[in-house]
Amino acid sequence: MIEGTVFPNIRIVLVETTHPGNIGAAARAMKNMGLTRLVLVSPQEFPSRKAEYRAVSAVDVVESATVVASVEEAIADCQLVIGTSARDRRIPWPMLDPKGCGGKAEQADNRAEQVAILFGRESRGLKNEELQQCEYHVNIPTGKAYSSLNLAMAVQVICYEILQARLAGDGSGEVEQPWDMDFASAGDLEHLFDHLQRTMIELDFHNPQNPRQLMTRLRRMFNRIRPDRMEVSILRGFLTAVNQRTGRVKDDSGQP
Ligand code: SAH
Repeated sequence: MIEGTVFPNIRIVLVETTHPGNIGAAARAMKNMGLTRLVLVSPQEFPSRKAEYRAVSAVDVVESATVVASVEEAIADCQLVIGTSARDRRIPWPMLDPKGCGGKAEQADNRAEQVAILFGRESRGLKNEELQQCEYHVNIPTGKAYSSLNLAMAVQVICYEILQARLAGDGSGEVEQPWDMDFASAGDLEHLFDHLQRTMIELDFHNPQNPRQLMTRLRRMFNRIRPDRMEVSILRGFLTAVNQRTGRVKDDSGQP
């Protein structure tokens, strides 16, 4: 047993879980590794006796779980969002292995940044729109014949690596550098994407009827850069100046 290894700033987010037993087993996997913050996005069956049964001595984690209606709500205040994925997606995204994920999450927790790690539905994982809200994706390497782990087992592997990072130091050689600004949250970035998209449409740079991968590529770019709050605010100010010059886009206040 390891004393004092709680990760107050890391939340495990389970998206539209079908089987309540998996929620309980995930809670147990978390508590075994010193994590306690569980967020459930529209679980199919919850609260549930099956979840409590499978949690065993982690019933407290199940009982204190927060239930929300959307991924956006689950991650709005997070500065680091990592999505787990059992397979490659069409547009490649910055990837971490489980150890790298453990290191990033542990360091961010140390800096008191809010961290979310997303896990998908048993049947079909996370949707592309959900993965595109992440700064990184993480894949657990598997045998070729079967790459999809049971949900709670995937939670176990990731939480194990978070605890290992705390116990061992992450060994990346990166020196902790305090930043002069808070990093932008997922909610701040959503507002920026919305503003960017509206402005590009009004400038006839972007055609929503034929979007191609424009917004996906821009989302990937901003998630890779990891802008801070001031940088996002400068960009929003710039977009507002463009809007005022063209006179075509209404700003958030509804004024032309
Ligand atoms: N059939 C789905 C897999 C769902 S498994 C698909 O092809 O995407 C349920 C969840 O467990 C996944 O959404 C992911 O969060 C996690 N998971 C399962 N296997 C994983 C792996 N190899 N790497 C990372 N996460 C995995």
